[in-house]
Amino acid sequence: MIPIQCDCILLDIEGTTSSISFVYDKMFPFVRENLHHFLTANWNDEELTQAVKQIASDAKLSDWPDRSLPPAEQQNAVAAEVIRQMDSDIKATGLKMLQGQIWKSGFDSGELQAHIYEDVKPAIESWKSLGKDISIYSSGSVQAQLLFFGHTIQGDLLSHFSAHYDTKIGSKKEVGSYDFIANQMGVDPEKILFISDIVAELEAAAAAGFQVLLSLRPGNAKVSEPLDQMAIGSFAEIAVS
Ligand SMILES: [Mg+2]
Repeated sequence: MIPIQCDCILLDIEGTTSSISFVYDKMFPFVRENLHHFLTANWNDEELTQAVKQIASDAKLSDWPDRSLPPAEQQNAVAAEVIRQMDSDIKATGLKMLQGQIWKSGFDSGELQAHIYEDVKPAIESWKSLGKDISIYSSGSVQAQLLFFGHTIQGDLLSHFSAHYDTKIGSKKEVGSYDFIANQMGVDPEKILFISDIVAELEAAAAAGFQVLLSLRPGNAKVSEPLDQMAIGSFAEIAVS
């Protein structure tokens, strides 16, 4: 057991609370598989219209899709552009908006359930019972984080979290992002524990004064030795006080 004295706990998602493969093997393929159906079923919805406008603007396409064409052809054009951007791993705003809408439909219908490791729920429940504040910091948007933790394989966990941060506040590898979070939490950085699978993120957090632990989950990228950080394979290995 690793003893940790802290007031707040900040958690990464992919590779820490949840498997990296859920995002890559379930969430992204879900967008591809449901794209056509989603476009057809929601074509006249304002939210989708806004996402399509943003996709056009991101790709510098004007008067697109051609509104004089039948809806099915416009939808094919949008689907083709979305697939092109996903294939090229372009992280554009419009694409993220549309992906978020498709994920929401999947989580709401129960077709998608977010993966979390077995030890995560009992650990955060015990940390909460000790009066610790738990927050999330992920490169996934806050909106996606709310969907994710609202629909996990162990139920809705949202009530356990005090705050959600995404890269709108800054990169996870920048010290300033952790300064900002400590400021938001209103506690000394030494009173915050950050857990992540990415060494560069831990280094940035440690430079801001945070306590850090490296998450070693099955399927995570290999970390080259030697480690400056202490590592855990499960949240059950931490004795928080
Ligand atoms: Mg991660």
